[in-house]
Amino acid sequence: MGRLTTFSFDFDIKRSKRKTLAIIVKSGKVEVKSPLFIKKVDIYNFVAEKKSWIEKHLAEQEVKLTQKLVITDGYDVMFFGKPRRIEVIYAGKPKVEISDDRLLIYSRSNEPEVLEKHFSRWLKHQATEYMTTQTIKTARALGVEERLKEVIFRKTKTKWGHCGSDGTIQYNWLTMMAPKEVIDYLIAHESSHLIHMNHSKRFWQTVASVCPDYKNLKDWLKTYGHRFWTD
Ligand SMILES: [Zn+2]
Repeated sequence: MGRLTTFSFDFDIKRSKRKTLAIIVKSGKVEVKSPLFIKKVDIYNFVAEKKSWIEKHLAEQEVKLTQKLVITDGYDVMFFGKPRRIEVIYAGKPKVEISDDRLLIYSRSNEPEVLEKHFSRWLKHQATEYMTTQTIKTARALGVEERLKEVIFRKTKTKWGHCGSDGTIQYNWLTMMAPKEVIDYLIAHESSHLIHMNHSKRFWQTVASVCPDYKNLKDWLKTYGHRFWTD
């Protein structure tokens, strides 16, 4: 026979008035959309043909699913590199409070999207306070305080930080989830760009002058950084 392939995944078959077969991989599940009158063996053969494509998508989605940040009661969220247990407290006026091991979110709603909004606003505020002060301090230590024009915050997909030629330093405020040393490394990195607008040897020497352990911290951000993305 040799016709029946075994699959490492399950899939549902949804028949409807359609003309062609289609496969959808979503949230770690596989669904085959099929015309009403098509033999099961033909569906299986179609899935077998697309096997490696499906497996690739499932693997990608698994990584995303396990690392997605969820702001919900009882979940952990990182702040300064330490997990804090989220506790949602009903309150008319939203606010967020942090303790050593907890993150209290006062909110009228329990919806994850609402909670994420409160959390994001709070985290951005924390980033503005800590990272702006640290950047001024570091620029001062490097003797280039007057070159620093402005510190701004954005949630960018690809970058943790950026230093423009006009002296504007931009940070991704999700960095506040990383350990303090990693945040300080990023600040040292962007502040050093106020002197060298490149990644030359001399640039890294400048980074090392304010952040001696920069190599390990740089690796850390590369390895674990993507876990902080919220989408
Ligand atoms: Zn750089």
